Amino acid sequence: MEQPISVTRSNFNDWMVPVFAPANFIPVRGEGSRIWDQENKEYIDFAGGIAVNALGHAHPVAVNALTEQATKLWHVGNGYTNEPVLRLAKQLTENTFADKVFFCNSGAEANEAALKLARKVGLDSGVAGKSGIVAFNNAFHGRTLFTVSAGGQPKYSQDFAPLPNGINHVAFNDLEAAKAVINEQTCAVIVEPIQGEGGVIPADIEFLKGLRALCDEFGALLIFDEVQTGVGRTGALYAYMNSGVIPDVLTTAKALGGGFPVGAMLTTDKFAPHFSVGTHGTTYGGNPLASAVAGAVFEFINTPEVLEGVKHRHQYFLDALNKLNTEYPIFEEIRGQGLLIGCVLKAEYAGKAKDITTWAGEEGLLALIAGPNVVRFTPSLIIPEQDIDEGIARLKRALSKLAK
Ligand SMILES: *Cc1c(COP(=O)(O)O)cnc(C)c1O
Repeated sequence: MEQPISVTRSNFNDWMVPVFAPANFIPVRGEGSRIWDQENKEYIDFAGGIAVNALGHAHPVAVNALTEQATKLWHVGNGYTNEPVLRLAKQLTENTFADKVFFCNSGAEANEAALKLARKVGLDSGVAGKSGIVAFNNAFHGRTLFTVSAGGQPKYSQDFAPLPNGINHVAFNDLEAAKAVINEQTCAVIVEPIQGEGGVIPADIEFLKGLRALCDEFGALLIFDEVQTGVGRTGALYAYMNSGVIPDVLTTAKALGGGFPVGAMLTTDKFAPHFSVGTHGTTYGGNPLASAVAGAVFEFINTPEVLEGVKHRHQYFLDALNKLNTEYPIFEEIRGQGLLIGCVLKAEYAGKAKDITTWAGEEGLLALIAGPNVVRFTPSLIIPEQDIDEGIARLKRALSKLAK
């Protein structure tokens, strides 16, 4: 076989559109919660591919599902259905509030479908102008034009004006502010049960309950964006299950495929028929390869052992982080649920989250930020305790640089 083309990190700057600024090393292989780069340097993975690699790297359950399906059928197109996608739809509907599923390839696409469904339901209601969408400051819903407009961080949308209109943003966790803008013309309210990219900020249960009541009062769809919180991340299968508030639409992606691209929009029999034949679609959505992997990942995670394990690891992480924080008191607050953990920097370290993750990389730890002031951890849901210990030890070495 021919030698593969030799590549280095500097080639990223040569050939890639510069929307990202990746770390200065290139990961080449992973196993469990460890990764190795081109120099064979080892890293503990507390990033999990941004809340994606729920079973870590190269888990046999995912590898077997992928390789088995790879020898059978990859893709047939939407003129035909397939067995893996129907099995996955059965799993998702049997284990959630939902009756129907639309499959796609990413979180943004799942939210795009959710927002379009809400507009269609609004149109079909016959109420004039029922197209308003209420969203929240600091929210993140993806990078398509519609989802970036629904997101509440203007820096991601303002350069792409004119934006789709009819979207109103109010403060997160402020029910009075939401009440002031939700009315008969509202077709949807979209909210993350925990704002992930926005800083790992949990929604108050009373806030979610209040949104549910307002949506019921005005006939608007309540959309939960569970792209980051879904598939066991919080210790529940979906975060809505922690709150007792049931949405009309739920979007899921990230951990769903354990690293294989897949997304889904879940809804009920009441709303699904508004997406009639031809109203929406995708070439790859529900492709057999993605569905087979997602089915295996979902089945593995949706067990009491794995979900309890997430809650246990949450406490284990928190104990270790709190201990670290007594030695290097740099975190004002440590928050989040399950294995979606945000460490908020004290005011005197404001803006240093990115530096900390860079230093962590030097010490052999992959970590994330959630805005300039929050260090975020979203590791594998089955990360071994010894890898947590080792990762925290490396984080400690990284923090010693901050102290200097
Ligand atoms: C990551 C994320 C998205 C976007 O998902 P993509 O797969 O990157 O399109 C949307 N919503 C939330 C809450 C996310 O965390």
